[in-house]
Amino acid sequence: MSDAAVADPADPTDLAARILAAGARPPLVVLDHDGTLSPIAPTPDAATLPAAARTAVAALAARTEVVVLSGRGLDDLVDRLGDLGVAIVAEHGLRLRHPDGTIEALATPPDATVLARLRTDLGSLLGHRPGWLVEDKGVGLAVHHRLVPADDVAAVLPLVRDLLSAAARTGGGTVQDGHAVVELRAAGAGKGAALRHLAAAAPGRTPVMVGDDRTDEPALAAAEELGGVGVLVATAPRPTAASVRLPDPDAVAALLAALADRLSRG
Ligand SMILES: [Mg+2]
Repeated sequence: MSDAAVADPADPTDLAARILAAGARPPLVVLDHDGTLSPIAPTPDAATLPAAARTAVAALAARTEVVVLSGRGLDDLVDRLGDLGVAIVAEHGLRLRHPDGTIEALATPPDATVLARLRTDLGSLLGHRPGWLVEDKGVGLAVHHRLVPADDVAAVLPLVRDLLSAAARTGGGTVQDGHAVVELRAAGAGKGAALRHLAAAAPGRTPVMVGDDRTDEPALAAAEELGGVGVLVATAPRPTAASVRLPDPDAVAALLAALADRLSRG
């Protein structure tokens, strides 16, 4: 499929027909949560799954493999989706909960003792400096510096990175730079790696990845590379590894309903 397919949003019913006509292989449908299944809310707590999406996910999960792949914590996702018959991959690919409730680790987080010491060391280094924000992710630590004066970033960020790198050497994990953030996270985690794991565990299925965020791009790319379909959810065209675009979560729910309908008719 060409870039032109992304320029214009797809019709959900046509897209469902294309996915199921692409071959005899049934789909493995992998869905991001926020901004894909549920509209983006002012705060993460306020995000809810609309009734139409809930009905469509449950109907589709009764007919093919459906996975929700999100950066949210596992307990949070189970509260939201536990009754829908879907598998859940939480924390950007760290843990997989199968529909029967069994849990599989997809990546190993850094050692908890090393993380605790790192938390203390970062507090000593940054506690009295304005603007620095240490986010405790439980299975990793992120240091945000968006609000820090530039000369302080230049002076202190190398020290932060040294602490994170030392923790990674002794406790495992990997140091990753983002936009005004540097973090220590589990090595091998991420949505792209999770999509590949899911696809390898479901041979004979066509992976269909649906997501709206930059963190979904590795999974969108993996779905395309594995002969499946990456579906970007975005109101306007933008650079993406996906070959198809849907405008919003309503269109995603319509796609899921159309897939379930077609599968129910054989
Ligand atoms: Mg999202």
